[in-house]
Amino acid sequence: MNKNIPEIFGSMVFNEDVMRARLPREVCKSLLKTMEEGKEIDPSIADVVANAMKDWAIEKGATHYTHWFQPLTGATAEKHDSFITPVGGGQVVMEFSGKCLIKGESDASSFPSGGLRATFEARGYTAWDPASYAFVKDGTLYIPTAFCSYTGEALDSKTPLLRSIDAISREGMRILRLFGDTTAKRLTTTVGAEQEYFIIDKEMYEQRRDLIYTGRTLFGAPAPKGQELEDHYFGPLKSRIAAFMAELDEELWKLGILSKTKHNEAAPAQHELAPIYATTNMSVDQNLLMMIYMKRIAEKHGLVCLLHEKPFASVSGSGKHNNWSVGTDTGKNLFKPGKTPAENKQFLLMLAAVIKAVDDYQDLLRVSVAHAGNDHRLGASEAPPAIVSMFIGDELEAVVDSIISGTDFKGAARGKMNLGIPSVPTFTKDTSDRNRTSPFAFTGNKFEFRMLGSSQNISLPNVVLNTAVAESFRQFADILEAAPDFEKALAELIKDTFTAHRRILFNGNGYSEEWEKEAARRGLSNLTTSVDAFRTFTSEKNIALFARHGVMSEVEMRSREEIMYENYAKVINIEAQTMIEMAGREIIPAVGSYVAEVASAAAAKTAVIPTADISAEKDIVTRLSNLTGKAYATLSLLREADEAAKKQPAGEPMAAYFLDRVIPLMKELRETVDEMETLTATDYWPMPGYGDLLFSV
Ligand code: ADP
Ligand code: MG
Repeated sequence: MNKNIPEIFGSMVFNEDVMRARLPREVCKSLLKTMEEGKEIDPSIADVVANAMKDWAIEKGATHYTHWFQPLTGATAEKHDSFITPVGGGQVVMEFSGKCLIKGESDASSFPSGGLRATFEARGYTAWDPASYAFVKDGTLYIPTAFCSYTGEALDSKTPLLRSIDAISREGMRILRLFGDTTAKRLTTTVGAEQEYFIIDKEMYEQRRDLIYTGRTLFGAPAPKGQELEDHYFGPLKSRIAAFMAELDEELWKLGILSKTKHNEAAPAQHELAPIYATTNMSVDQNLLMMIYMKRIAEKHGLVCLLHEKPFASVSGSGKHNNWSVGTDTGKNLFKPGKTPAENKQFLLMLAAVIKAVDDYQDLLRVSVAHAGNDHRLGASEAPPAIVSMFIGDELEAVVDSIISGTDFKGAARGKMNLGIPSVPTFTKDTSDRNRTSPFAFTGNKFEFRMLGSSQNISLPNVVLNTAVAESFRQFADILEAAPDFEKALAELIKDTFTAHRRILFNGNGYSEEWEKEAARRGLSNLTTSVDAFRTFTSEKNIALFARHGVMSEVEMRSREEIMYENYAKVINIEAQTMIEMAGREIIPAVGSYVAEVASAAAAKTAVIPTADISAEKDIVTRLSNLTGKAYATLSLLREADEAAKKQPAGEPMAAYFLDRVIPLMKELRETVDEMETLTATDYWPMPGYGDLLFSV
């Protein structure tokens, strides 16, 4: 294994260094300008760039190229074309034109479009995104692209993201100019996404249809040991896991992904990987790649990586923390409070902008993390509640309160940490402790949005963040640009904003019941299920926001809304059908065999000794027979409900039917079957149980 990490890092990426080395100076300059400033690409350079990319990719073993895009399936899509071009005489040369780099055309009819595109208008286009690096993977040159319909509507996750990045830069620059910054040209948002995941043994996985079809266990009685000893969190890595992680790191480094931190997470078999942050656009692409590589490298080690939000009931699920910040192209981080945040007016205005955005668009933030898988986590005392609130730490909260009340802020001196051991150096403590229960926390110079599900594309949450904050910036800039006295207007604006949006700040325990009551009193929204969240997506206020900033048109939003409902219904339908199949064709028959075995054992006993004690056998047979009857009855109801659900009108009515009528029956069936599992001999149970799944690696 090559251990010269700086050498292998980014070796498969057509990055800035490669561009400088391989492109004529003027072309390189023009391309970098496009990347950094979001300017339109000069079409005359496309041929030169394409040719250089092709030559470089061929050296890396590539024979094909692909426009890599993010349709609204949540997964990525690719179609590979080889570079070969016939030149007569039965010969070929390797060619790649600027036209093929910039634009791709594909039949889009089988991708979800939410009714945007009738199937007879099947044409879809992919358009090169020069701001995210191309790379070579498996002998193909991957070109990150945006994906739209023939009529120009976005059919993907990337397009609105790029538009939102533009929007926040445009509105934010107005504020920076007011503070006298004349050198910055652009704002960039940055993201570091911490990724949680489970790893289980492949042999176990293959015996569970629920894992194969749905990514989570639909049945499974808890194992005697779960996560209660808290011995897995940050515990020593098992050697198979360590080997998997080492190979994963190396592959990610080759792709220029700054994989940094790895550790065991709270639940048994759960782990985390955190990269160093990058621009939001690259981070989204890299997180998608990271998830692809986690799955494929696990396979190589005889393991399976589960990215589902809740693979196992009764142990913690997996999320993704979206660390987000805004900076200038000149390297300033706008969320850096400095030593005395109370006097840092620019920082306070930035803080006010985010507080206002989170309060005004709680519902959109909630929708951006809503999907069937995440419903198992949010509000389940292991992840943030479904209520969006913000934690900014004691010191900043005191600053905000002193501004609201017009009193002086008396900053608490930072404590020294002294452990009472002379050989251990003392150090200065952070100004506030962490709050792990908060869905949206300020963490020093960035905000950490913690509601995201582990499997999701992180694009939409960032679209919402960028656009909502762009809207705060816009309103602030309108006020401040028109103000005769800037300083006075600024102080008023900060105070008014803090006062109006104070309700969104919460430093306490977000998992508690009291908070649910308190949040209701404050008028915060509590959208407990995905379907509840989807219903708020195309409210007038939200349509106006995206339209104003050119991020999504009403048509694009409505199509996405439809896809959300559709996807939800499909996921629950697959889960229900899998349960029906597993219970009906595997579990009930297996339990039947066991009951027969126990009954005949009892009969054999009494044949030899008529007075033998067969009370245990009787009890097992009675209980399992009753449970089997109950399971079978619920199964029939579930089958009916699932059929009825599929007959509902598509969209909200169908999703709501699955939520209200199908899910309760799934829960009921699971409870019965899990009880059957605890009474059935292991040899008879037709699949590995939780103990095997969680502890066998
Ligand atoms: P914590 O321990 O609070 O989760 P870390 O320092 O480990 O914080 O950082 C978590 C993630 O936040 C990492 O991916 C890191 O790269 C990212 N991060 C740090 N600074 C920024 C920033 N300015 N913008 C976006 N992400 C950032
Ligand atoms: Mg974190």
